[in-house]
Amino acid sequence: MPHVITQACCNDASCVFACPVNCIHPTPDEPGFATSEMLYIDPVACVDCGACVRACPVEAIAPDTRLAPKQQPFIAINAAHYPDRPAGVKLPPTSKLAPVLPAAEIRHGRYPLTVAIVGSGPAAMYAADELLTQPGVLVNMFEKLPTPYGLVRAGVAPDHQRTKLVTRLFDKVAAHRRFNFFLNVEVGNHLSHADLLAHHHAVLYASGAPNDRRLRIDGMELPGTGTATELVAWINGHPEFTDLPVDLSGERVVIVGNGNVAFDVARVLTADPDELARTDISDNALAALRDSRVQEVVIVARRGPAASAFTLPELIGLTQTAEVVLDAADHDRVRRDLATTDSALTRRKLEILSKLGDASAPITRPRIRLAYELTPKRVIGPQRVTAMEFTRTGTDAVETLPAGLVLTSIGYHGKAIADLPFDDDAGVVPNDAGRVVDPASGQPVPGAYVSGWIKRGPTGFIGTNKSDSLQTVHTLVADYNAGRLGELAGGPRAIARLVHARQPEVIDAAGWKAIDAAEIARGAADGRPRDKFVDIRDMLAAAASAPPEPLHRRLLNLVQR
Ligand code: NAP
Repeated sequence: MPHVITQACCNDASCVFACPVNCIHPTPDEPGFATSEMLYIDPVACVDCGACVRACPVEAIAPDTRLAPKQQPFIAINAAHYPDRPAGVKLPPTSKLAPVLPAAEIRHGRYPLTVAIVGSGPAAMYAADELLTQPGVLVNMFEKLPTPYGLVRAGVAPDHQRTKLVTRLFDKVAAHRRFNFFLNVEVGNHLSHADLLAHHHAVLYASGAPNDRRLRIDGMELPGTGTATELVAWINGHPEFTDLPVDLSGERVVIVGNGNVAFDVARVLTADPDELARTDISDNALAALRDSRVQEVVIVARRGPAASAFTLPELIGLTQTAEVVLDAADHDRVRRDLATTDSALTRRKLEILSKLGDASAPITRPRIRLAYELTPKRVIGPQRVTAMEFTRTGTDAVETLPAGLVLTSIGYHGKAIADLPFDDDAGVVPNDAGRVVDPASGQPVPGAYVSGWIKRGPTGFIGTNKSDSLQTVHTLVADYNAGRLGELAGGPRAIARLVHARQPEVIDAAGWKAIDAAEIARGAADGRPRDKFVDIRDMLAAAASAPPEPLHRRLLNLVQR
């Protein structure tokens, strides 16, 4: 009864270190870990102990006998990662455990190591988790919104609730007595980098990649154009995107780019609104989807099927929940690629594509069409979007797709951080293992660190940020131990006074817990995991109902002043 990793795998590798026989690969120290679409359990080596099940933050692992029908394909996918061998013959890697990187050991100075983390998404939370493994370290986390957890709250699609379970781990980190939330506080507005550096030994930016990569073709300014990432934020109730004009009155939506974000958007646009009503989708997005006239979402890729950007687990999930079709010419392209592709993973994707229905069938319910080898040329108006024009990739032949909404989903892009160097082409802050480096001088920028998408670019999964943040924390602690970081201008609590002076509406962990509880209570009435506030004033009102800080915490704060 071996265990099996399924679609929700977040790649944070907690399971790898929990496994007593090293049967989960790739491990973070193995080549391919950073680019692996998921982790895989070797069914021959698995001893069925269940340690991985308890370690997994998103409930992605189960014994093969307890899988839901939709999860059955993952038995073969896990096994296919390992070579065939006679029954009972285990692989050499099972003889050694994955090396656990020891926690960075800290030698505290006059004040305990005090770190500001900017952002509160997965990279930020994993960095805080790692820092707090050492006694004494203080972590202050600054987040622009009144609510934490970044893309887990505002980016993960509402029908992927299991992926959002990672917030249980983040809640534990946030409850740590040496951790402070400063929510509703914007660095670059309420506080500067210099303010943070005066009150912390180091500032670790985990601010992600909040911008979209833009497609520079004619017509992208027309009403009816937008980006998939904006739509995801709207669907998820991000307060800055609540009023996004999303016109679903046309029968066809075109999405350019075929990564996992395009899949998320296409799934939601074609889903049964009654199903979505059981998730934490924002109320206004749900209302718009109930009135939607969309019948077909076409996901367009400029390259062929073998170069698809989506991952195998997401393709399996999509084809199990939505009607997905290809037209006849694209079926031919799939067959062509199947005949020439060596990669086992790509072949699995192509095999699934080859079994999809034909687009010539009449549309009976909203469906998704995958289209290949179409290079975007221009969006056609005149007043608003009516169609999108493409050239057949590698030729001059023009093809037109009528559409009422055109979304680009061609990746995220990082945003420059005030007072830090920025590589605009890559959309990242130049760094060496997380230490910010000024490219002009080649010298480190004292006290400045990065992790997550602003460090490595917008790739990977939620859990990929665990090893990424671990590396940054090791770099930071090495610099602190070597005396390369400055000292604090005042006691560790001085920052709290400064923040309250600059932003009286700062929300702390208790305030967030009150917002969280209120949203969960609002959702419970309708059988939903939560009903999100989308207006910042409502969030502030909910936070204001939080009970005062317990006495022991107030006393601790007094001691630390
Ligand atoms: P992505 O995976 O990088 O896909 C970008 C897509 O845009 C590709 O198809 C790419 O095609 C296309 N593209 C780029 N420039 C283009 C251009 N000028 N014209 C036409 N097409 C262009 O990006 P993403 O979907 O935004 O995902 C970002 C990351 O988040 C990925 O690592 C993804 O796996 C992750 N994510 C994961 C999940 C999940 O696990 N459920 C959900 C959402 C996001 P080419 O390949 O031809 O360049």
